[in-house]
Amino acid sequence: MRGEAILLVEDDPGVVQFVSATLSAQGYRPLHAGGIEEGWARLGANPEPQAPRLVVLDLGLPDGDGVALVSRLRADPRFAALPVLVLSARHDEDQKIAALDAGADDYLTKPFSAGELLARMRAMLRRAALVPAPARVLRVGALDIDLDRREVKRDGQPVRLTPIEYRLLACLASRPGHVVTHRQLLSTVWGAEQIDQLHYLRIYMGHLRAKLEDNPAEPRHLLTELGVGYRLADE
Ligand code: CA
Repeated sequence: MRGEAILLVEDDPGVVQFVSATLSAQGYRPLHAGGIEEGWARLGANPEPQAPRLVVLDLGLPDGDGVALVSRLRADPRFAALPVLVLSARHDEDQKIAALDAGADDYLTKPFSAGELLARMRAMLRRAALVPAPARVLRVGALDIDLDRREVKRDGQPVRLTPIEYRLLACLASRPGHVVTHRQLLSTVWGAEQIDQLHYLRIYMGHLRAKLEDNPAEPRHLLTELGVGYRLADE
């Protein structure tokens, strides 16, 4: 896993220095771009095997909003699966959610520690390495989720889910460990016209947790990303 190129798109010199030093110390090869266009150019300019394996992307950039770069990456088959970790400031809440809706994989809120950054990156790189094998039976803690047979077991015992509960779980399970935004869940499970119905999510997530968690008040599998969405734990 070492020696992998990581592209940091960020204009704040302090963050650039901190992230680059953190990555170098861990044996990664940091590349840097100060804006959207430079980031895009750097991605296109690096042939395999020097191509970046992950993008760490600031949202407030001098030539625009980082969300635009996420959209551009996801629309290009060369980069559609490239993991993107968004860095957001506290006041960027809407942009952060827009970036996740556009296909970013995860986010960190500034300020963050080196440990948080590295842990998040390791998880993303590990998942990216697994992508070609479509893990249709997923094991998450005490849960077995079989996406082909539409079966869910908890501690080896089948759990009966309603069709909506199942669709909600399957949507999270299709991207284990990733944040899935409220908008993504609502449009996938209920349809695009229902994306404002946040209470549907609260109610059905409550049902799912009651069926799948030992302690629904302190979920270990179905995790809340406050104000953003939900995440199925990935181990
Ligand atoms: Ca910035």
